[in-house]
Amino acid sequence: MSFFESQQGDSNTKTRRRSWRDTFIQLTPGDPVTVRIVEPEIVAENKVWKHFIPQARTKAGRRGLTVPCPGIEVCPICARNKELGDREHPDYIKAFPSFFAHALDLTPRKTCDLCKTVNTGNTCTYDDNDLSKLPLDETVLKILEGSKTMFEQIDTVESTIQAVYDPNRPSMLAAHKDPRVQEEHKSGREVMVPVGITGYNLQLVTTRNDDRRTVTPVPASAPDDFDYREYENQYISKWDAWLLLTSDEILELVQGASLVELLKARNSSGNSSLDTDAGL
Ligand SMILES: [Zn+2]
Ligand SMILES: [Zn+2]
Repeated sequence: MSFFESQQGDSNTKTRRRSWRDTFIQLTPGDPVTVRIVEPEIVAENKVWKHFIPQARTKAGRRGLTVPCPGIEVCPICARNKELGDREHPDYIKAFPSFFAHALDLTPRKTCDLCKTVNTGNTCTYDDNDLSKLPLDETVLKILEGSKTMFEQIDTVESTIQAVYDPNRPSMLAAHKDPRVQEEHKSGREVMVPVGITGYNLQLVTTRNDDRRTVTPVPASAPDDFDYREYENQYISKWDAWLLLTSDEILELVQGASLVELLKARNSSGNSSLDTDAGL
């Protein structure tokens, strides 16, 4: 597994706010990515509630912005929804769940030594510089965020890819916990079990039809003994990953404010600098 060793960024990157691209696996139509999911199970903590605020203005002056819900107890949108009671009311802004798992971004990339553009090919897309002699960029631990549908499809892949149970393979977590598998194994029989989603690479192919984005996961390597536990202490905190707004800020967005103005106001009031390009 030398490929995975020595490739993690150093930990001081955690002291600054991460850019959107450094934090999240980019699922762009026409730009397949290869990842290794390093979380074997999607649990309650792997969910973020979001609101789409149609009135909010983006940097480009368009309307409509998705923001994480700061929590049902403090969120002004959730409070108003409760007051309205009627999901069909035009002012009702529903909350929808988004799911995530930590994953290594294994898409081979090279950063142009002249202009610093990150490329997936051997020619810089910006200045045609020949990148063939440059080393690949480091593998980075990121967050793979997606819809319930995307994670259900990943689940389907997971149930399809099976191998003979091996007690030493970390990815076979579910089988390690399954008493029936353990019994079969102890009695000396070979038992087929799911390898587990951390046991192989996945290629994620994003397509767009009309306004709907579809992400299709495809297994992209043979199962191996990769140990996801090595990455547990590098998980990115939710609070660092998503730009969390206060209830006052959310209220202003609902009233048609622009995110960039809100963040400028926040910065000038002495809070630490924030990345306004948070993909919101
Ligand atoms: Zn809310
Ligand atoms: Zn370049």
